[in-house]
Amino acid sequence: MKPASILIVLVLVVAVAGGVAAQETPLNVVATTTLVADVAAQIGGDLVVVSSLLPPDTDTHAYQFTPQDVARVSQADLLLVVGAGYETFLGRLLESAGEIPSVVVSEGVAILPVHAEDDETTAGEPLGVLGQGLVCEGEEDEAAHDGVEHHDHAHGVCDPHVWMDPANVMIWAENIAAAFAAVDPINADVYRANAVAYIAELEALDAELRALVETLPRERRMLVTNHVALNYFAHAYDFDIVATVLPGVSTGAELSPQALIELVELLRAQSVPVIFAEVTANLQLAQLAAQEAGVTLVADLYTEALSDAGGPAATYIDFMRHNTRTIVEALGE
Ligand SMILES: [Zn+2]
Repeated sequence: MKPASILIVLVLVVAVAGGVAAQETPLNVVATTTLVADVAAQIGGDLVVVSSLLPPDTDTHAYQFTPQDVARVSQADLLLVVGAGYETFLGRLLESAGEIPSVVVSEGVAILPVHAEDDETTAGEPLGVLGQGLVCEGEEDEAAHDGVEHHDHAHGVCDPHVWMDPANVMIWAENIAAAFAAVDPINADVYRANAVAYIAELEALDAELRALVETLPRERRMLVTNHVALNYFAHAYDFDIVATVLPGVSTGAELSPQALIELVELLRAQSVPVIFAEVTANLQLAQLAAQEAGVTLVADLYTEALSDAGGPAATYIDFMRHNTRTIVEALGE
């Protein structure tokens, strides 16, 4: 045996004997969005290096991955995705990046429909639970690939913006802790403890947001948003979704002139005071609708991503605080 080989054997023996030393290299985790990355960083602490595929202040619906993104994902130990059809680019990305272990953090979340069928002014009732027999439209191809018939599946156009209710992010925290523990079982207790602590913070956040919303009379809790993004918020905090400017779940949806006229009529009939739009929005249509209906446009919501570190929504908790304050203040005036 050459001296160099002996050294390598010695290092290996020391690493195994040291137990935890075997995980000295932190897990390399890539999350699709900054929201998932923030939660993952809370759970992973020093044991995990988390990065977000999409940068802050970006619109996931308009994202197209680059060769550099493919390279980053292919080097990851674990990829964390929202699921529910949110990452429409995921299939093509994984085709290019290869088989990376990936975890859908929203598994176990009750998924709301994009539009309620019976009553247009509510956020609707859940279509089913993700990971428990619900197939979201856009993910059906994937389900078909395994060659199994899925007659017992509930189908629907899922709203993937589940993080707009902190209760769902508590489920993310549990799923992420379990995913980290599966890859790094030695530190399972640390991930579990971090999740418990973070969930306590989310419970405090939820209580804070609930108290804030309570200051707004029920009849003022009317939401008109640029695209379908606040269903879970409305469901959690008892708001009505009166309308959205863009009809679909994506910011890439189109609006016909007839639909714009109908929207303006609806805004006038319901005496809606505000249209809310996300900071990343193309505001042309929302501006036009607000102008025609004579209502205020507040284009200050963060819906798909965190702000950069200096902005008002640099963590998930600040993101929810900022959005809820913006909504309550605008509707309270
Ligand atoms: Zn969205």
